[in-house]
Amino acid sequence: MRQNLLRADSALLSYPIREVVIIGKELEKLGEFSMIWENIGDPVAAGEPVPAWMHDVIQKQVATERSFAYTETKGALAAREYVLEHFSDKKKCTVEDILFFNGLGEAINKVMNNLPKETRVLVPSPTYPSHATAESMHAGCAFLSYSLDPENDWEPDVEEIENKVKYNDNVVGILVINPNNPTGSVYKRETLEKIVAIAKKYDCFLIFDEIYHHMTFDGIKTTLLHEIVQDVPGISMKGISKDIPWPGSRCGWIEVYNAEKDKNFKGFIEIILLTKMLEVCSTTLPQIVLPHLYDHPEYECYLEGRIRKYEERANEACEFFSHIPQVRVNKPKGVFYLVVELIDLPRNTLESVNKQVRLYLDDLEQTPDNLSKNTDFQFAYELMGSEGVCVVPLTGFSSDINGFRMT
Ligand code: PLP
Repeated sequence: MRQNLLRADSALLSYPIREVVIIGKELEKLGEFSMIWENIGDPVAAGEPVPAWMHDVIQKQVATERSFAYTETKGALAAREYVLEHFSDKKKCTVEDILFFNGLGEAINKVMNNLPKETRVLVPSPTYPSHATAESMHAGCAFLSYSLDPENDWEPDVEEIENKVKYNDNVVGILVINPNNPTGSVYKRETLEKIVAIAKKYDCFLIFDEIYHHMTFDGIKTTLLHEIVQDVPGISMKGISKDIPWPGSRCGWIEVYNAEKDKNFKGFIEIILLTKMLEVCSTTLPQIVLPHLYDHPEYECYLEGRIRKYEERANEACEFFSHIPQVRVNKPKGVFYLVVELIDLPRNTLESVNKQVRLYLDDLEQTPDNLSKNTDFQFAYELMGSEGVCVVPLTGFSSDINGFRMT
């Protein structure tokens, strides 16, 4: 090649939830065993059957001509109207403020990458990796984080948020993931209100990733951005990968709040839309199916049944881990994830890594970076090789706490 094709910041690109799978698949082949995949955030891939009523609704829509056409760049009007009516707040947002994307993954990248390079968004640690990677790729350096506190049920450290915003003039936004991946926590309303107050005080916007908003356990209602945002500019992120669940649809959206109140913020959203226009629009079919799925008479009961199962599983797992002194768990309040902190890690070294892992690493003729650095990566590779169980190391969620996330 006449020029180097590798961008200088490519080392920042990382998505460990899928990277462990590549290694797990190799170990499966080498060890001739079937891996138990505890890493997956995809209910369908994890073996939950797609109910017949979902198949029926989707097939009915495929039969219409409309499902084969482009939509407007913002997304199908009927889908945007539905979102406005059911998930949003007409006082702070109109149908024009709802934009569809090919999955929330695309929305996350579009939002972060359209910010000026010198600006920063504060991202939680641990976090869903797409946010951290998109933030660091846009800024060209390590992402800027605030801590979630395991001693306080993984609630955000509000004081740290305020200090980071106060002393970094280039912070323009604060990201909150609620209910949370990877921790399964659901934040107290007062914590969220404090974060809104910080955004207001320092003239920042908010991003609330609320993709799991329907997935909380008994009696806990998620506080949604639109309920507390007041007049602060904000973006709520939602999608149909988890609650419906149709992750293969690649269908997510953003609801933009209070855009009219801040010209600067409004201009930023317009740029996001212009970059989306270069791709014409997002996939049509899931958007036109969306209202029919959520409105289906069996949907509520189906979702409720799944949530009960997730809660039971979380209870069983917490009970199991509570008897192991070297680990610590916080009981999740929603979602289908559990974080297990490794308090007293076995002092693994590469020499002690079991035979299959060793063989594989020899094959690679190099040590993956994260294996040499992070003890919980060593633990996760050992667990794959010796027990045939794949989990995601917690440091893979941009955290400096050793542990793992399982589903
Ligand atoms: N945000 C969070 C917190 C997630 O956990 C995920 C997927 O696991 C996404 C966004 C991406 O969702 P999508 O499937 O819509 O791209």
